[in-house]
Amino acid sequence: MLQDNYQAVKKNIKAACEKAGRDPKEVTLIAVSKTKPFADIEEVMKTGCLDFGENKVQELVEKEEHVSKPVHWHLIGHLQTNKVKYIIDKAALIHSVDSVKLAECINKEGEKKSIVMPILIQVNIADEDTKFGLKKEETEEVIRTVSKFPFVKIKGLMTIAPFVEDPEENRIHFQNLRQLFIDIKEKTIDNVDMEILSMGMTGDYQVAVEEGATMVRVGTGIFGARNYNK
Ligand SMILES: *Cc1c(COP(=O)(O)O)cnc(C)c1O
Repeated sequence: MLQDNYQAVKKNIKAACEKAGRDPKEVTLIAVSKTKPFADIEEVMKTGCLDFGENKVQELVEKEEHVSKPVHWHLIGHLQTNKVKYIIDKAALIHSVDSVKLAECINKEGEKKSIVMPILIQVNIADEDTKFGLKKEETEEVIRTVSKFPFVKIKGLMTIAPFVEDPEENRIHFQNLRQLFIDIKEKTIDNVDMEILSMGMTGDYQVAVEEGATMVRVGTGIFGARNYNK
């Protein structure tokens, strides 16, 4: 069942790519396994999927210890500086860097373990009060500062779009993030690789792919609804 869900999402991504004239190989599907048991991850891994997303440090660390294959763990949730040390050698990519202070801490922990940590800069593209992430206007300046840290490597941008009924409402936000991505890329800042655009979730990933996402983060659409009261 979970494998069928995963394949169905892949198919939708392919269709969105065709519509936009893109190569589906440009898009990585991250299976967001937060709150889901370990057995579910193993099930989805049978499809060949090796990219999983978690939003809590402790959950990522616990699952990382048990998987039977070398998984790329994506930390997608808000990260507190005091928890960086637990995931610095476990996460393949931190999607949620939203301050110079957090990047500084990642740099410090990276140095201790000689790890250059790939990160994305989280942008609150729709300027919602309830969301983490930098304002669009401050993003370039933060990137310029963080680019000086030798044990951090900026690989692109990430956003969590508003929760909407109709995914078309988020198209403008995806377009805006893509434009910011291109604008920053064109400035060719040293030690910054603008390669990854992480946007789109279960409700809106097709639109995000049409608008240039290179990573989509899909939880419910693969694993089913989450129960936070267990
Ligand atoms: C939970 C989560 C997702 C996946 O959400 P779904 O709507 O279940 O696909 C994606 N990104 C982030 C940052 C999340 O926390």
